[in-house]
Amino acid sequence: MIDKKCICEETQRHFLERAFGRLKLKGAQRELLLSSFRETRITVPVTLRHNGENRLHTFQGYRVQHNHARGPFKGGLRYHPDVNMGEIRALAQLMTWKTALVDIPFGGAKGGISVDPLQLNETELEELSRRFCQKMAPIIGVHDDIPAPDIGTNPQVMAWMLDEYSKTHGFRTAIVTGKPLELGGSAGRLEATGYGVAHLTHKAAEDISLKPEQSRVVIQGFGNVGSHTAIALASKGYKIIALSDVNGGVMNEAGISIDHALAHVADNGTLMGLHGASPISNAELLELSCEILVPAALEGTITCDNVEAIQAQLIVEAANMPVTHQADERLQQRGIVIVPDLLANVGGVLASYYEWVQNLQQFPWDRETVLSRLENRLSRTYDAVNILASERQINLRCAAYELAIRRVEQAVRLRGF
Ligand code: GLU
Repeated sequence: MIDKKCICEETQRHFLERAFGRLKLKGAQRELLLSSFRETRITVPVTLRHNGENRLHTFQGYRVQHNHARGPFKGGLRYHPDVNMGEIRALAQLMTWKTALVDIPFGGAKGGISVDPLQLNETELEELSRRFCQKMAPIIGVHDDIPAPDIGTNPQVMAWMLDEYSKTHGFRTAIVTGKPLELGGSAGRLEATGYGVAHLTHKAAEDISLKPEQSRVVIQGFGNVGSHTAIALASKGYKIIALSDVNGGVMNEAGISIDHALAHVADNGTLMGLHGASPISNAELLELSCEILVPAALEGTITCDNVEAIQAQLIVEAANMPVTHQADERLQQRGIVIVPDLLANVGGVLASYYEWVQNLQQFPWDRETVLSRLENRLSRTYDAVNILASERQINLRCAAYELAIRRVEQAVRLRGF
């Protein structure tokens, strides 16, 4: 069993230390950039229905606010049984680098509850989300800290949080992003992360002369990010040969119809049993012969244990921290190009920023405006990272960290703390 807490913290620390060294940052400067502004842990009591009886359960909830030198804290809220302070701390740091890299006026935060949302019914999930919001209300705020969906949460969870917060603060649409459209959500937000992953995959593929029709793509994870990545890549002409969810994978060397896969999941709740595709395990899926591999599930999926078996030429990190730092080193030695998480999946928080701006201005944009702004900003960010990488002869991850850390460090220094 992989210790997610160690993987996240170790991996994040390793990437940061490497960048700090190149940027010649010293003791206290490093300490300031590494440490959280505030770490909050709460107990969330919920009455659960179990075997026909009502029982009180307590869940552990977290919000880590890492850095707000460049603007309000920003980051998702995760519901997953493995959630713990170490993981949330590392993911909060990653949000700081993401918002800085894409140059939006936010800092970084992350929250979570250690819970398996699939074990709760709708009423219990609502109670859990409302209680979490009540207890976190003193530290979140439209100009302080703005939560959003992440693994295990969705627009409905954001709607409950918005409603709960509004009971004491008045109707505040900008308190969360990733809301339903009817409550001030942004057109394009739901698909933005996957759409952005596909856009950046296409740019990186072009750079290594991979043509869509000749590129076999494997996607691990078919949740919001994985499914929208698949839709967008398929529409660009890429051949998706394998997909997976928590139950396992499915593959067809001739290509999988994404419409068909989506319809199957809508009917059955899983990809398993997809007509015309053979079942494979999640582990086998990662090792398939392909040109492009997109890990779009949890952290720590490519490790020392399977790195030698990876066959892709290009890995696009749709998930946060899917590659451990040891595996990253080995992939680099093997000449495999990686579009790192802080760049690859930044379309999500970028669209969140657009949602927040629309909420503050009370002026909604149409989907085309959101997605074309998203594409332009992502292209510019990718180009800046790519140029720095070739100037300095470093990989995309090192270049992305350097750009992001430099921005945060400057803001910290200018503000004088
Ligand atoms: N949870 C997403 C992420 O990890 C989005 C965060 C946000 O929109 O604030 O980037």
